[in-house]
Amino acid sequence: MLIDTHSHLNFSAYSNDRDSVIRRALENNTQLIIVGSQITTSERAVKIANQYEKGVYAAVGLHPIHLQEFHIDENEIKFNSRAEKFNYDKYKKLAQDKKVAAIGEIGLDYFHLKNRHKEEVSDEREREIKKEQREVFIQQFKMAQDVNLPMIIHCRDAHEDLIEILRRLKSDYPRASGVIHCFNKDLETARKYFDLDFLISFTGLVTFLKGYEWIKEIPDDKFMVETDCPYLTPIPHRGERNEPVYVKYIAQKIAEIRGVSVEKIAEITTQNAKGLFKLP
Ligand SMILES: [Zn+2]
Repeated sequence: MLIDTHSHLNFSAYSNDRDSVIRRALENNTQLIIVGSQITTSERAVKIANQYEKGVYAAVGLHPIHLQEFHIDENEIKFNSRAEKFNYDKYKKLAQDKKVAAIGEIGLDYFHLKNRHKEEVSDEREREIKKEQREVFIQQFKMAQDVNLPMIIHCRDAHEDLIEILRRLKSDYPRASGVIHCFNKDLETARKYFDLDFLISFTGLVTFLKGYEWIKEIPDDKFMVETDCPYLTPIPHRGERNEPVYVKYIAQKIAEIRGVSVEKIAEITTQNAKGLFKLP
């Protein structure tokens, strides 16, 4: 069995065939977490998870890129992002649904900040946006402690700030835990998160980027797998829409790097996901 710990089956990429994508995953012994990125997609994640008796869970949270209005144009997908103000009570209520396994995705994203229409963002505005991202992240961190859920954290070009915030908050909330999703930094950074009781998870990036040999070094109980679908489709399906069954290719690649069987990777990542998200 595998658990795709980060999927966006709530996104419009699946509006025509969502149920068959989910059934295909479940029939192939793959459970999944549907992750929200703003209030609408968080509500949809909870609604979808409730349509399945078992194996489908939800995470609710406000992604840092949705704090401002802008247009993202990456290789794989185009979308317009409308600004959303974080509403603690609304998210907290949603988080209390029995299918909700985590608060996420929340975090810091300084990448999209630097890489969008640069001329329109003054240095001062950039500092303001970063500050707002940190404040909203801290509010959601506290909400996660309030509802006793782990966090799914997105971090792009902001590990230094994130680690500093987590270190500071951990002294007040020693039981806080979670995962740094789509982790693609290095062993040294990974170890800093392990020391803070956080896990990391790997996407299809490991199948088509180089430089992941350090995956050999990380302890068995510190990592999970995810697709981040519809994005980041692993080899051998590059160019197609991603989906949870493809999480097996990520497990295979990690097995290859670590020199163990794919069954072993499936077993330990499933155990880690069940432990972190308290899944049955
Ligand atoms: Zn995501």
